[in-house]
Amino acid sequence: MAKKAAKKTGAKKAAKKASAKKAPATKAAPRKKVAKLVSKLEQAKRDLVIANRILAMEHVVDAYGHVSIRHPEDAGRFFVSRSLSPESVTLDDIVEYTLDGKAISDTRPPYLERFIHGALYEKRPDINNAIHAHAEATLPFGLTGTPLRPVTHMSGSMGTEVPVWDIADKFGNGTNLLVTNREQGLDLAAKLGPTNKVVLMRGHGFSAVHPHLIGLITMSVYLPANARVLLESLRLGDVRYMSDEEAAARFDNDPMAPAARRGWRMWAKKAGVGDLLADWDR
Ligand SMILES: [Zn+2]
Repeated sequence: MAKKAAKKTGAKKAAKKASAKKAPATKAAPRKKVAKLVSKLEQAKRDLVIANRILAMEHVVDAYGHVSIRHPEDAGRFFVSRSLSPESVTLDDIVEYTLDGKAISDTRPPYLERFIHGALYEKRPDINNAIHAHAEATLPFGLTGTPLRPVTHMSGSMGTEVPVWDIADKFGNGTNLLVTNREQGLDLAAKLGPTNKVVLMRGHGFSAVHPHLIGLITMSVYLPANARVLLESLRLGDVRYMSDEEAAARFDNDPMAPAARRGWRMWAKKAGVGDLLADWDR
């Protein structure tokens, strides 16, 4: 018995040795495969799914509202989900559109307000990501003339100038306040202007843009939070706003800053889509 056991152990050791020798080859192969499978385009779509889930989890959007990315290889196109609540969006729901809102090879119902995204990408070549949401805390600032400005350190990247777009100014009192065609989208984009990041929409919500998706999501999470703090502060007295310099110094203006990626990682995992994170973010 003892001999048999010794023999077995010897065989095991030999097998272990042999597999240890082979280990580098077998380990390297799948890694190579994975890197090939997740192209820049594929990861961009994964990031868009993550963005949808984070915005839903953080109540920036509810059943309505949407986030998009410019096509990383074709500036004249963008990706956004088909008409679906952001918390339900998966990779299969991501649809490619031209900037005038025509779907590429997809017949599923689109978002009615997809024209917002196309117009923002058309007017702002400097941005690659856009959001439209109805976050309630931002609404009073689109109705009263009281400006929405950053007051908390997490909200500086929204910029110190947030214009208000009133659809009635150009399209009259008969609309349903939604942006349902390219002309309305372009008018909204014109109000945002060449450098601002956020535009409020009277009685409706806001739209915002950013060069980087992580920057957009971080800004969008803290935008309604900043609005709530500002609303409370206005009840108490004079408000000390952030200066232009303080706002410009925000870390999420640099999406590669570790502090910016920390939130993205945590939110993605909390929202149940950590498996879609890029390898370097896991
Ligand atoms: Zn809307």
